[in-house]
Amino acid sequence: MLAWYRRRRRPLPWRRPGTGPYHTWVSEVMLQQTRVETVAPRYEEFLRRFPDPETLAQASEEEVLRAWAGLGYYRRARQLQAAARYLVAEEGGELPRDYESLRRLPGVGEYTAAAIASIAYGEPRAVVDGNVKRVAARVLGLELEAPDPVLHRRARAWLQGYHDELAARRAHGNAAGDLNQAVMELGATLCRPRAAECPRCPLRRDCRSARDGRALVRPAAGRAASAEELLLEMLLARRGEAVLLARRERGWNRGYFEPPLRLLRGRAPAAAALEREWEIPGGPGRFLGEFRHGITRYRLRVRVREWTGLPARLPGCWRWLGPEEGPWSTLARKAAALPGRPA
Ligand code: SF4
Repeated sequence: MLAWYRRRRRPLPWRRPGTGPYHTWVSEVMLQQTRVETVAPRYEEFLRRFPDPETLAQASEEEVLRAWAGLGYYRRARQLQAAARYLVAEEGGELPRDYESLRRLPGVGEYTAAAIASIAYGEPRAVVDGNVKRVAARVLGLELEAPDPVLHRRARAWLQGYHDELAARRAHGNAAGDLNQAVMELGATLCRPRAAECPRCPLRRDCRSARDGRALVRPAAGRAASAEELLLEMLLARRGEAVLLARRERGWNRGYFEPPLRLLRGRAPAAAALEREWEIPGGPGRFLGEFRHGITRYRLRVRVREWTGLPARLPGCWRWLGPEEGPWSTLARKAAALPGRPA
């Protein structure tokens, strides 16, 4: 596995020489729930803007959310900053060097702590994500569903066995970090959800699924959580490049600036927040277009109308903001990019 990984790994920005614990931490938080292709350019931009825990701790929340825009799951950005502030206040700005101490940082769970401890500090500790669970289920021949905690435990024990073996052999280089990344890389490239390239796989001799040909039914398919469809209406007022926006104080996209939205069809816990967030002066004008967007388990269809009848004096929460200000939410950016917008 190590030889395969060291030969075949994709040249991703967080794998460059000189990557330190802070870089590993940022990349691992970004990679939870977000695709590698989306993360790569944003990771570099984020680190240019916040090169160490001190700059991240000192930044305003708006600056951090602006740098995170487009990555989704914005709670991660707030937690990252909260942990950076804790580090600066309590630990002299240095990340702790072992799993147990890393777990004490705000918002740092089992996955992130194990990833930093192994990749940055060489601690022999298994990291378990969706890719690792899929590979383990196939190697061990387990037809458990992916969210099943038994599969999580079995995957961790399986990978930890290799870590213990490497530690006993005193393997050279960062064997712990490379081993974890090797299994994740294998799951992302050869042992994918809908394809398994067993003849090219370094685990094929030890893999039960390579022998019985049942890779694609492992892990077992669970009942897919059905996405909820919501139809929304958004009002858009533009002045040159600027758009009239207000900061969301709760619900989705909290901390981001967005035009007014109302729910036309569908039910959602966030619906109340969507409808009654703002007192909206003026009202809907001509239809400008429609776009789709996914947020967590919701599929949104957003109809955008021109925002007309604006009074000369707007309530204080509304601001004309250019694309570099804000931060704009992704919904705001998608609406502003629609053709047919008013002049
Ligand atoms: S041998 Fe096939 S099923 Fe087994 S881990 Fe490798 S790619 Fe996955």
